[in-house]
Amino acid sequence: MPAIPASLRLANQATILERLLGRKAATRAELAKATGMSKPTAGKIIDDMIRAGVVEEVKIVDGVRPGVGRPGNHVRLATSRPHFIVMALGVESTKIAALPPAPPETEHWDTEFQTPENADAWLERLIQAARHIEIKRPWAVLLSTPGIVDERGGRVLLSPNLHWSENADLVWMLKQVWAAPVALVQEVRALALGELGARPDADDFLMVDIADGVGGALMLRGRLYNGVLPLSGEIGHTPIPGNLRPCGCGGRGCLETLASERGLIQSLRDAKGSGSTFADVVRAVQRELPTWMRATLDAVATGVGAALNIYGVRRVVLVGRVTELPTAATDYLSAAIQRAAVWSRFDAVAVILAPKRFARGLLMAGIHKFVMPMDWSGAS
Ligand SMILES: [Zn+2]
Repeated sequence: MPAIPASLRLANQATILERLLGRKAATRAELAKATGMSKPTAGKIIDDMIRAGVVEEVKIVDGVRPGVGRPGNHVRLATSRPHFIVMALGVESTKIAALPPAPPETEHWDTEFQTPENADAWLERLIQAARHIEIKRPWAVLLSTPGIVDERGGRVLLSPNLHWSENADLVWMLKQVWAAPVALVQEVRALALGELGARPDADDFLMVDIADGVGGALMLRGRLYNGVLPLSGEIGHTPIPGNLRPCGCGGRGCLETLASERGLIQSLRDAKGSGSTFADVVRAVQRELPTWMRATLDAVATGVGAALNIYGVRRVVLVGRVTELPTAATDYLSAAIQRAAVWSRFDAVAVILAPKRFARGLLMAGIHKFVMPMDWSGAS
């Protein structure tokens, strides 16, 4: 067999992996066709990845003609052995899972602990939690963090709801626990990756998380949009006229101070003089939407609509607390976004309420960052 240049080999390997991320399994012939390589040449790359534990052979019987499918003819991303540590650092809790290369269908965590209020305590809790994780030498560790994150530099630049993470060397800390490459993934970008392939026809969308904070990320043609600056869809720090609340970012009047969980609770208290939980907010807007809630949803819709109009995307995926609001509120928000998105004059604009898929998104990031560019031909 003629030698393939390493760069071409890696490009073809990446194409094969991309195919497998987008579907549950594929035949060797389909994968060869996707790369435009001969079956033996593609087969060699697939065999190397099977040996390395990246993909596995699977018996799939042709659904139409039972018994016709040849065992071993299909391959998929490996499901058996965990090779990645994925972690979500949240304001409330830190969650950890060990996962195989195949993206999980449902959110799953092996262990979690309450996120403490300083870096030293976090590392201590992490070391304890790592004892529950049955993977000694992971291929990589992926950590999602909220805030403005310099993913390349492995630093959190600003985290209005988790300020201690700004001065913490999270990558160094994780390397104390696991001898593996570490990558930080901005939280909403991780959620956007988690949405990729989770539903059909969803390669272009704006992801908006409305929870402790309000953040966004943009997926264009199946790739996370990267700006020049380490900023990702900071829709939550857009000032809203008439809003004077101070924000954790140092600014004033940010959308986040209205639409985040805390912002909604504060608005309820300002209007009614009582209410201290998100459940109180849900109850207060159950029958009809108070003026403050309409104004807040209008502000969200303005920001989301502007982003859809600028990027030429006709789909927004909403996750977080916003999906737990009563239908009257989510319907109102959906209609307001449709009005704000100019594409609605021509065709449908989709507003989708979705669950958070952190584990899946981090795993996707792990495949993109570490598995695709790795030459597995020498791996044992
Ligand atoms: Zn702000």
